[in-house]
Amino acid sequence: TTNATTITVTGAAGQIGYALLFRIASGQMLGDDVPVKLRLLEIPQAVRAAEGTAMELDDCAFPLLESIEVTDNVHHAFDGANVAMLVGARPRGAGMERADLLEANGGIFGPQGAAIGERAASDIRTVVVGNPANTNALIAAAHADGIPAERFTAMTRLDHNRAVAQLAQKTGATVDDIDGITIWGNHSATQHPDLSNATVAGRPATELVEDTWVRDEFIPRVAKRGAEIIDVRGASSAASAANAAIDHVRDWVLGMVPGAWTSAGIVSDGSYGVPEGLVSSFPVISRGGEWEIVPNIEIDAISRERIDASVAELISERDAVRSLGLI
Ligand code: NDP
Repeated sequence: TTNATTITVTGAAGQIGYALLFRIASGQMLGDDVPVKLRLLEIPQAVRAAEGTAMELDDCAFPLLESIEVTDNVHHAFDGANVAMLVGARPRGAGMERADLLEANGGIFGPQGAAIGERAASDIRTVVVGNPANTNALIAAAHADGIPAERFTAMTRLDHNRAVAQLAQKTGATVDDIDGITIWGNHSATQHPDLSNATVAGRPATELVEDTWVRDEFIPRVAKRGAEIIDVRGASSAASAANAAIDHVRDWVLGMVPGAWTSAGIVSDGSYGVPEGLVSSFPVISRGGEWEIVPNIEIDAISRERIDASVAELISERDAVRSLGLI
């Protein structure tokens, strides 16, 4: 049929890919009435492993899964894509300098952005999961001729979901009771998880938790949760990262419950003192298939300082990829 949605997942043979693909194919991302076609992009040495995952997807006999293709060809991977989930990235190796990491990822996300520009469907929506996610999204957007930069986003939803869960546990509330949390800035340890406008069942969170808990436990715990998971689980977070990617795409494509907001790394329009063009995390709602930054939020002095620090990191990453000729 022609009404299937084509979804390209890169790094499909990795841990996050394995946690992601089955949920997409079962309808948990776009709904149980939307057929999907999957394109799995991998580097040549991982194609066989991705083919194994594709065999398992076949074996699920998902009614919504119209086709699966595995490829190492970037142009083929994005041909007609409606949604691109860029998970594969070059991890930081021992002794690797930041410039080396940015350059290695520029070599991945530049060509992927170009292929998206050449081949993807006009409604393409891209979320970058692979780190450094914000700057990888910036690189991809810069290479995607003819695609509005707003179609390139970076995932900070896992940080957001972590923050929601921490506040719910602390206050004895359910996650449904929590609203108004924001992750600001870079998807890195400099991110600012901001509770200053959060509510718990309609009550300001700041009335329910101590400032010292926010400063000494909540903020560092959310910002360093990835390392905590590695320490406890013995492997990096994969299912929760995949879940967040699904939340991000679902909300972007299908919209959100009116009144609620979430966090996503999107191209700045200059709001909240974040320089225009940077891919930074903001408080957002999704409406009509587009992210909109929640306006007129009050930013307290502590938040201002932390947001500025994270944005400074984004600026330095942007300047580094610019001087490497990657954007
Ligand atoms: P994972 O699937 O565990 O992670 C993939 C990427 O997601 C990494 O960059 C990782 O960053 C990032 N990530 C972002 N947020 C999180 C989070 N909260 N928790 C964990 N990871 C997060 O990596 P694997 O090594 O298992 O798999 C990667 C796959 O990508 C491999 O199969 C490899 O072959 C492939 N690859 C594909 C490319 C392509 O298609 N062109 C290019 C490069 C690799 P971090 O490293 O900071 O944890």
